[in-house]
Amino acid sequence: MIRAARGILAALPFVCGSAFAAEPAATLLTADRVWTGDGQAHAGWAVLVDQGRIAAVGPADKLTAPAGAKRIELPGKTLIPGLIDLHSHVLLHPYNETTWDDQVLKEPVEYRVLEAARHARDTLQSGFTTLRDLGTEGANYADVAIKRAIDEGVIPGPRLFVATKAIVATGSYGPSAKSYRYDLDFPRGAQEATGVDEVVRAVREQAGHGADWIKYYGDYRTGPDGSARPTFNIDEVKALIQAAHQTGRKVAVHASTDEAMRMAVLAGVDTIEHGYGGSEATFKLMAEHKVAFLPTLTAPEAIGEYFQKHVRGGAPTPAMAQAAHAFALARKAGVTIGCGSDVGVFAHGSSARELAWMVKLGMTPTEALRAATSVAAAILDKPNELGSIKPGALADVVAVDGDPTSDIRAVERVGFVMKGGVVVRAQ
Ligand SMILES: [Zn+2]
Repeated sequence: MIRAARGILAALPFVCGSAFAAEPAATLLTADRVWTGDGQAHAGWAVLVDQGRIAAVGPADKLTAPAGAKRIELPGKTLIPGLIDLHSHVLLHPYNETTWDDQVLKEPVEYRVLEAARHARDTLQSGFTTLRDLGTEGANYADVAIKRAIDEGVIPGPRLFVATKAIVATGSYGPSAKSYRYDLDFPRGAQEATGVDEVVRAVREQAGHGADWIKYYGDYRTGPDGSARPTFNIDEVKALIQAAHQTGRKVAVHASTDEAMRMAVLAGVDTIEHGYGGSEATFKLMAEHKVAFLPTLTAPEAIGEYFQKHVRGGAPTPAMAQAAHAFALARKAGVTIGCGSDVGVFAHGSSARELAWMVKLGMTPTEALRAATSVAAAILDKPNELGSIKPGALADVVAVDGDPTSDIRAVERVGFVMKGGVVVRAQ
């Protein structure tokens, strides 16, 4: 059965009637410099936007704006592509406000959705115009509805690629069964599955409900001592990934043990999340198999602050040191590294912390910027639409104070945000 009406609306996010979605006029943006998503920043360049897309970019004196074009001058600023965070949870908020268990068990889904709308707005205002949102953590398919509301202009927010419920091995994920009465039946943080049939069914159900990506947990803290152990076996992992790929969806795996990472790579996974316990050999294998890495460096810092008395800027906790070590191994092995922060664990609107971490741990500012723009767009299979200021790309453009290619903290000083040719933050 073909259901056209809803599909057409979803495909035309800029023309549906609402305050956020007026058809944008041609706009000429000038700033001190433009960084297009690769290479050096260009002083004196400008960007011409038309019909929601980049029409031209180049030296300001060589760009001819059509008659009637709007002109926006942003002195002292650098224009960069809209930033991308490939690992977010818009339906979570920091655990020092409410523990993860209490968010899943005590916050009604309706309440979480309203909070998520605020998170989406804060994200967009901070210059992040695209998120890959990796799991609703007990909020069912709420991410699909939030994405629709953003696309149709009901609420402001970034472009979303959603994973819906995510898939976990039975009994492996939170809320931990052993923490509660065994005869209580409560919501799960993700969809449980056991065996080839059930993992394939879970993939198909989630794809059918609107998942853009499939996420599974390759390991979790299931050891008798609470240590992380692989959860699904290789047959389940292979079947899950094959079922997802057959539908045209890529697969992200939460994995922090070397064994679960290795199993995922050999089974054809597309991205590895966290990877804290990865060995040199496994990162080399990732590079060979072109599996991208999202290192989520800010999450252990946030957890350290909440629960281990870590003071920001102080000596790293063991978890932070492990994350830094994995990041160094991945860089040495030549693994593709994208910006994925696990925001939601920490406050929405501060994903830029991840770029600062990547630079602190050895990337140049330009490498970190690429990880959050052109490299991230390639991981999403959208290299011509997202992450670059080039003709034909969607006009997601951000202006930051100063030059982020020499000082990465400039991305925390956002002074203008355009999404799809529409100005969503003017200063
Ligand atoms: Zn996560």
